[in-house]
Amino acid sequence: MYEIMRCPLEEGIRLAKENCMPETCTEEVSLLTAFGRILAEDVCAPHSQPPFPRSPLDGYAFRAVDSTGATKEAPVRLTVVGEVFAGGVCAKTVKEGEAVRIMTGAPIPDGADCVIRQEDTNYGEDIVEVYTALKPYANYCFVGEDYKEGDCLLTKGTNLTSVEIGILASLGKETALVYKTPEVHLITTGDELIMPGEALRPGKIYDSNLYTIGVRLQELGIPVTMHTHVMDEPQAVAQAIREASKTAQVVITTGGVSVGKKDIMHEVLSILEAKKIFWKMDLKPGTPTLCGKYEDTLLIGLSGNPFGAITNLEIFVRPILAYLGNMPSLEPVVKQGVLEDDFGKPSKVRRFVRAIYEDGVVSLPKGSHSSGVLSSMRGCNCLIDIPGDSDAVHKGDKVCVRML
Ligand code: AMP
Ligand code: MG
Repeated sequence: MYEIMRCPLEEGIRLAKENCMPETCTEEVSLLTAFGRILAEDVCAPHSQPPFPRSPLDGYAFRAVDSTGATKEAPVRLTVVGEVFAGGVCAKTVKEGEAVRIMTGAPIPDGADCVIRQEDTNYGEDIVEVYTALKPYANYCFVGEDYKEGDCLLTKGTNLTSVEIGILASLGKETALVYKTPEVHLITTGDELIMPGEALRPGKIYDSNLYTIGVRLQELGIPVTMHTHVMDEPQAVAQAIREASKTAQVVITTGGVSVGKKDIMHEVLSILEAKKIFWKMDLKPGTPTLCGKYEDTLLIGLSGNPFGAITNLEIFVRPILAYLGNMPSLEPVVKQGVLEDDFGKPSKVRRFVRAIYEDGVVSLPKGSHSSGVLSSMRGCNCLIDIPGDSDAVHKGDKVCVRML
């Protein structure tokens, strides 16, 4: 149906999702490698944190009632009956007229209900002079100040950042149970492409998509398990996809999806007897995006134009990866901003334009907006989403942007 009619973006995403399933397999990973992974279970606290009442400062622990009326001029004198450091325990119970020297993080001994900071004493070793009267539970961190035993702290689907990983560590966990990340293979096609490091020859250009798309996927937390460049030979590309599909949930290709003589991806799909889900999207750049399915692997053919490929990775592939990998952090972030520059072109189809968003202001980069141009992407952090059938947009217009 979408061979003739161009597929709207949201419909394309829906159709692609219909042809794949969110990851249900899980694995245990060590905490230091868990950044960006998605928690696959609810996690409750097996103990309270802290597990004991503790001192938040260096000083003396005693019974608050014993400091009644204390001042610098008329200090209260307490007998120091012990000393406790972080990591230790004080076996003594603090009785009337007694104090225990205590350091930050150490358990407050039984009997004591407050801690005075050492600066408010004479630092006494055997007898300490207390200069201030304290209320019960002054400078006293309760058991469970952070969380209590049984509290459900993290839920299934949580994106693990340093804070969540720290919480897991504080619970005593060595590993996190996370969803497997979808495996993506990236194949660039084009007879004109040579690899960085090779000498530039007539008619050739360096393959940049392999890097921009491959590294962008890494930035999004999707490991690219295979990067390959294949010449415009349908059998060779089909073979590369066959190989990739043995393990990959998604194969992304760039190039060869348009209507030229060397736009081989249609033939590749025929050779593979793959299902064509749609071809061509109702947007610019990257109109000829192709979506198919080979066995259980989703095939996404992006335009070879560097900006076309980047844009369609962001607006089309990202939501699919969010779905497949249970990764809500990959869902699009949309903001409103006021345009700082004019963008002169009226547009029949929906258009995505590279731009810079800062504090509600959207400005355009210097340089060309052509879909073949990569260098003007530098410094851009968003794509302006200009609806179809719109006139040129001007300075002062309100626009929607998708953050990169
Ligand atoms: P295609 O989609 O194959 O028709 O390519 C469209 C344009 O993008 C052509 O000018 C190609 O040379 C260029 N192109 C294709 N693939 C890449 C790539 N991997 N890196 C940089 N430019 C590319
Ligand atoms: Mg090509």
